[in-house]
Amino acid sequence: MRKQALLSVSDKTGVVEFARELAALGYHLLSTGGTAKMIAEAGIPVQEVADYTGFPEMLDGRVKTLNPKIHAGLLARRPDPAHMKALADHGIDPIDIVVVNLYPFEATIAKPDCTFEDAIENIDIGGPTMIRAAAKNHESVAVVVDPADYAGVLAELKEKGEVSAATRLRLAKKVFCHTARYDAMISNYLTSLDEDFQKKDFPESFTRQFVKVQDMRYGENPHQKAAFYREVCVGKGLLASYKQLHGKALSYNNIADSDAAWEAVRQFKEPACVIIKHANPCGVAVGADSAEAYAKAFKTDSKSAFGGILAFNTTVTAACAEMISKQFAEVIMAPAFDEGALAILEKKPNLRLLTIEMGEDHNDYEFKRVGGGLLVQTPDLQIVSEEALRVVTKKQPTAQQLKDMLFAWRVAKFVKSNTIVFAKDGMTMGVGAGQMSRVDSARIASIKAEEAGLSLKDTAVASDAFFPFRDGLDVVVDAGASCVIQPGGSIRDEEVIQAADERGVVMVFTGERHFRH
Ligand code: 5GP
Repeated sequence: MRKQALLSVSDKTGVVEFARELAALGYHLLSTGGTAKMIAEAGIPVQEVADYTGFPEMLDGRVKTLNPKIHAGLLARRPDPAHMKALADHGIDPIDIVVVNLYPFEATIAKPDCTFEDAIENIDIGGPTMIRAAAKNHESVAVVVDPADYAGVLAELKEKGEVSAATRLRLAKKVFCHTARYDAMISNYLTSLDEDFQKKDFPESFTRQFVKVQDMRYGENPHQKAAFYREVCVGKGLLASYKQLHGKALSYNNIADSDAAWEAVRQFKEPACVIIKHANPCGVAVGADSAEAYAKAFKTDSKSAFGGILAFNTTVTAACAEMISKQFAEVIMAPAFDEGALAILEKKPNLRLLTIEMGEDHNDYEFKRVGGGLLVQTPDLQIVSEEALRVVTKKQPTAQQLKDMLFAWRVAKFVKSNTIVFAKDGMTMGVGAGQMSRVDSARIASIKAEEAGLSLKDTAVASDAFFPFRDGLDVVVDAGASCVIQPGGSIRDEEVIQAADERGVVMVFTGERHFRH
């Protein structure tokens, strides 16, 4: 019985050479349109699949190899006599080697002018069918989907006269990884076309595909391994837009904190600076330019800013860089750096400098692993408008108080719960984060302000969720706050509003909560 190889590839790298060697080893070659043409033009004997099956390629290439003569040749167990007889009865020769790679779906959709029709036409049907059949039957068939495997397969054929069982199994595993990834890309692409994700139901299952960007030295701690992946077909967010200009490779914690910094800083219209430590902002401010914003943000908690991640939504000037260079920072990110700024900051070999695009895009879903499962939610994109605020106290806010409260509220969204943020004049004055009780977050925020030498007199306070008791409110008013912004919604709201009236402060309800864990 003749030995047969079938070749049908989109990526034609190395296929002619591979075909030449297979022919020299005595293989009868079967091939499809474009691939067959290339092989024939190189003077290598090859039979078109259409000629072998007696069926022409049809429907613009949608049907080329989808034929029982091909699939029985791939799936027959060898040397099972019943299977061999069935092949013989129908004049079918077994196929021993399959060389297929699929229509380039990923490259097609990556093109900016790719139409929906282009994408659909680039969904390979016959290729996955063949390689899945061959991989299922790996006991009898070797299936090669990666040109990088040509050399190894040839070496084994020359040395042993066959591809070893271990290699056939390895190649089969590669196939199922390849087809799983291929289908995930298609599913991802189709989902990504759905703009209105807020209204979209959650799918029955997720087939997201992530490809490795890099291995990392370690994860959150040195004994944890880690790697960094990019989501296929989505191409949005920090990952799609950042460019590293200088410094060591980003660590796991760097990336996590940079993402938080980027999300926080880009919500401000005016020049802003956000300093993040362990996923929490320890200073946020707006100013006339990067230098003023930084100086104010740094003042909030200069002790905690040590080793922080700094994000700007505006160009970092030389004057700003001069100030930053006095502190130890892990990462600085901004849409641009002045030349003077770069000259100053690049003197620090370990400092990572990133350019980022601001954009308005967001992840469609947020994922959180739990034991044996996944929690999925839409991101917290809520931004309360001034009109939506409800003043609940007798005292009405002044224009300045409103401004301060809305600033504090924007920051609070990015602080881990329970959150208390003091702010005034476009600057955080004290941040209390991540406590199990709101009253402790309030105490911590005021202690930090005191330590930083900041006066909390006439400050605005944001609380990410309602005050369950009046005690938290009393702490912030004792510290000097004159107005408070919070969602409301507690069964003790009346008691808390009464306390605010009693203390002579303003309180407004947003009706929206910003827990962050
Ligand atoms: P060629 O350039 O040889 O004409 O086409 C090679 C490509 O066709 C390969 O990527 C292979 O996966 C794909 N292919 C092979 N058979 C079929 C088929 O029956 N239908 C479709 N849609 N694609 C096929």
